[in-house]
Amino acid sequence: MKATPSSSSSSSDCLFCRIVSGDIPANRVYEDELCIGFPDINPQAPTHLLIIPKRHIASAASAAEGDTGLLGSLVAAASAIARNEGLSKGYRIVMNTGDDGGQTVNHLHLHLLGGRRMTWPPG
Ligand code: AMP
Ligand code: ZN
Repeated sequence: MKATPSSSSSSSDCLFCRIVSGDIPANRVYEDELCIGFPDINPQAPTHLLIIPKRHIASAASAAEGDTGLLGSLVAAASAIARNEGLSKGYRIVMNTGDDGGQTVNHLHLHLLGGRRMTWPPG
């Protein structure tokens, strides 16, 4: 990993950067200085939220050592949102990475899934 944070440039071509900027509307159920949380448009569970950094990072594969604080903040945000959403029985946090990982939006994000029993292995 590089010691410096990954690129911080946002892109008007990036769907999630456009949500961060407000260009595309989303119901922000969570927001702090580093990240936002909003419902997935195609929910796969009764609760399905996305938590994304405000700064553009393409994926976990391009995260750098300088991003570790930000990555930790995303997990802490997911945990806080899960508490707010009443997911006391548990939930799943997913970070799809790259083509084989099933990533379709190239702006790093966590999926927070809950409200039903999850299966393993994932598809
Ligand atoms: P992934 O496939 O892991 O890259 O996740 C991208 C997710 O973004 C998918 O679950 C989509 O349903 C979701 N998504 C795409 N467009 C939007 C949007 N405008 N608002 C909310 N979620 C979206
Ligand atoms: Zn982006």
